[in-house]
Amino acid sequence: MATRKKSMKLDKKVKGEPGQFLTDKLSAFDNAMKQFDRAADILKLTKNQVAVIKEPRRVTEVKLPIRMDDGSIQVFMAYRVHHNVARGPAKGGVRFHPDVTVDEVKALAFWMTYKCAVVDIPMGGGKGGVAVDPKGLSLGELERLARRYFAEMIDLFGPDRDVPAPDVNTNPQIMAWFMDTYSMHHHDYIPAVVTGKPLALGGSKGRASATAQGMVYCVRKAFEHFKIKLAGATIAIQGFGNAGSYAAKLLSEDGCIIRGVSDIDGAFISDDYGGIDPEVAIKHVKKHGSLKGLEKVVKVKRLGDPMELLEMSTDVLIPAALENQITSENAPRVKAKIIAECANGPLTPEADDIFEKKGTFIIPDILCNAGGVTVSYLEWVQNRMGYYWTEEQIQQDLKRIMETSFANVLATSLHHKVPMRTAAFIVGIQRVNEAAELRGLYA
Ligand code: NAD
Repeated sequence: MATRKKSMKLDKKVKGEPGQFLTDKLSAFDNAMKQFDRAADILKLTKNQVAVIKEPRRVTEVKLPIRMDDGSIQVFMAYRVHHNVARGPAKGGVRFHPDVTVDEVKALAFWMTYKCAVVDIPMGGGKGGVAVDPKGLSLGELERLARRYFAEMIDLFGPDRDVPAPDVNTNPQIMAWFMDTYSMHHHDYIPAVVTGKPLALGGSKGRASATAQGMVYCVRKAFEHFKIKLAGATIAIQGFGNAGSYAAKLLSEDGCIIRGVSDIDGAFISDDYGGIDPEVAIKHVKKHGSLKGLEKVVKVKRLGDPMELLEMSTDVLIPAALENQITSENAPRVKAKIIAECANGPLTPEADDIFEKKGTFIIPDILCNAGGVTVSYLEWVQNRMGYYWTEEQIQQDLKRIMETSFANVLATSLHHKVPMRTAAFIVGIQRVNEAAELRGLYA
C-alpha cells in the first residue's frame, strides 16, 4: 500500500505548484456526502427528505477471532453497512483489505444505493469489509475468516434482505463459502443470498467481466457523444485486478491501445505503437500474482513513482483500484480527456472541480462501474427462477441497461448544465427519494 499511504499523507504542504496546499478531505464518506449535497441542492430536497435518504440506515461492526494455522488467534475488525433499502434488498460487495475502515465502508454502501438507482435495478445499497491483508493468509485461514464473517452477521443477510458480492481481494471462491455458510445454517440451498458465485454454484455467465464491460458500453457512448473514433484511442489503467484487467482486454478488443497499466506492485508504460498486449499482462499476473517483473516479458518501462501513471498523456484514464487517487494535488497534471471510473470514489470533490474547469469528461463510478451490480442482479433473478440464461441474453440486458442509463445521465447533465457525477446523483436521488416517500415511515 505504499502509494496509497503516500496519497493519504498529502495533508500538509505538497509538491506541485509553489505554495499549493492540499485542502481535500480524504475521508471517503465526507466526500460522498459532498457529492450528495451538490445534487440535493439542485433538486431542492427538503431537510426531511435529506434526513431519510442521506445517511446509512444500519452500521454493524464486529470482531472476528480466527484460529491461525500455527494455533494462535488473530482478531480482525469487520463491517457490514446497509445504507438504504427503500428500493430493495441491500446490495454490495465485501472488501478484504488492510486499510478497510467504517468510514470507507459507509461511503461504499452509500455509492451502492445510488448506483442501483442510476441503473434502475430494484435493490438498495450495502457494503462490507474486513481489515485484513488476505495475501498473508493461507487458504484455510482465508476460508475460516470468510465463513466467520458470514456467520457472525448471518441475520443481516438473505435474498430479500442483503445480498453481498465480490469486491477488492474477494472472489467467486469466497462467495461460494459465504453461500455455503448461509445455506448450512438454514438447512437449504440458497444461492440467491450472494452473487459473483462460481458458475457451478449458480453464478451468472458474464459476471466476471461485467464491471469492465459496463464501463466499455459507457466509454463507447462517450466517444459517440464527442463524435470521435474509439479504435486507436490510448488508455491508461490504474489497478489490474478484476475490473482493470478486463478493462484492458475489452478495450483492446475495441481497437484501443493500452499505453499504461499498474497495480500495487508497480506501474508500467509503453511507448511502442501497439502498446501493452493485455493477454500477456493477464497471463503474467496469473503466473506471478501481480504485474511485478512485467518489464522482463514485454517492452515496457517501469515508472519510479506509480502515481505518475495517472498523469500520462492518454485519451482515457481508467482508475480501477481504490478511493482518493486523484486529488487537487495531482488533478492539474492529469492529461486524459475522459476519465472512466471503474473504481469507487477515485476522485475527491476538489479534483472534480478542477476537471470541470479543464473540461475533462468524467464517467462517474455510480454509472461507469454499475455493470458489475447489474449482472449481479441478473444472477440473483436467475437464482430465484432456477433458470439460467445464455451469455448472449446477459450481454443484451447489460448493454441495454448501461446504454439507457448513460443516455439518462448525459441528458440530465446537459439539461441542468452540471457535470456527469452530479447528474448521476440527480437521477439516483430522485428514484430513491420517490421510493422512500411512497413507503412512508412505519410508526
Ligand atoms: P481486485 O482486488 O480484483 O483488484 C484491485 C487491483 O488494484 C489490484 O490489481 C491491486 O494490485 C490494485 N491496487 C491496489 N492498490 C493500488 C494502488 N495503490 N495503486 C495501483 N493499484 C493498486 O479488485 P476489483 O474487484 O478489480 O476492484 C477494483 C475497484 O473497482 C474497487 O474500487 C472496487 O470497489 C471497484 N468495483 C469493482 C467491481 C467488481 O465487480 N469487481 C464492481 C464495481 C466496482
